[in-house]
Amino acid sequence: MKPEEVKKIPLGLFPTPLQRMSNLERELGCGPLYIKRDDLSDLGLGGNKIRKLEYLVADAIQQGCNTLLTYGGPQTNHGRLTVAAAVRNGMKSILILHGAKPDYLSGNLVLDKMMGADLYFTEGDGEEQKALAQKVMAEYGARGDKVYEIPVGGSNVLGALGYLMMIPELMKQLDEMGASAKYLVTGSGSLGTFCGLWAGAKYFRAGFEVVPISVNPQTTFREEQAAAFIRQISDAYSLGITCDPGELKLQFGRGDVSYAGVAYNVPDAQTQEAMHLLARTEAIFVDPCYTGKSFHGFVDLAQNVFPKGSGAIYLHTGGIPAIWTKEHLDAAQPVLAAY
Ligand SMILES: *Cc1c(COP(=O)(O)O)cnc(C)c1O
Repeated sequence: MKPEEVKKIPLGLFPTPLQRMSNLERELGCGPLYIKRDDLSDLGLGGNKIRKLEYLVADAIQQGCNTLLTYGGPQTNHGRLTVAAAVRNGMKSILILHGAKPDYLSGNLVLDKMMGADLYFTEGDGEEQKALAQKVMAEYGARGDKVYEIPVGGSNVLGALGYLMMIPELMKQLDEMGASAKYLVTGSGSLGTFCGLWAGAKYFRAGFEVVPISVNPQTTFREEQAAAFIRQISDAYSLGITCDPGELKLQFGRGDVSYAGVAYNVPDAQTQEAMHLLARTEAIFVDPCYTGKSFHGFVDLAQNVFPKGSGAIYLHTGGIPAIWTKEHLDAAQPVLAAY
């Protein structure tokens, strides 16, 4: 089946806006710079997981499931949006969260609770998370529920279609604006967004290159895994494209400039600075876990690496609730006090 024929259900508000960032262009002295607002995809405060969930939840419903289960860190945005998708479709939701159960709920956890999610915490490794999920699924099954399991980040070939299919949406918007861009910069975690976009750009012959910024300096999701994932997408939906790891370059930083920061979801000063830059120039917010890092990479590449005059698009993937998590609020206090 071709990507255009795969069934999805409407969850978000699409197309998301494509906007020019003129104030940022003046501040940085380069451009043109655009932002694709997937933080404004509506449902459950929006974010990049909605495009993936439109395909995944369609499959869950098709299979007769009434409950969605997924995995992530305690502050997972993907978890929050999976819960939101369940609520919208009259389904139940279960999150298997990797970490200690916090005694003070903040950020996404507040929203997960408000929407009625069933939360389970484990500090164990992947095996233990799987075992916990099996146990919970068995309990739900015994009560007559049918659970649909979604991988971390919604990043399988079906979920990746969400971003593959964003490419024609974006190409049409650029066309309508009379704009052209050579680069599309996105944050990358579990690879679904980047690999979907990369495959889509090749399949639809987009005029821009997709540039992934890693949000985790210790990630095991590298070029090798990304290329294999792209080939899987191509095989599953007969795209007829190839991908070699040598064609991909996950960006972690440049010299002393670190886009990926010190670790996943650990606060750092360079990311904070990038967050403040976009807030003070465009009144658009990015977050300390994902988009502050990818936006930092976007700014550095636009100023120092992309050839002068080449248009660049920043994909805003959401994540705003991380601004108000306990760990990031604590870290931000001295920075904010110094203003
Ligand atoms: C999940 C997420 C990403 C990364 O997307 P992947 O498809 O996992 O690579 C980027 N930004 C935000 C805000 C996210 O929640």
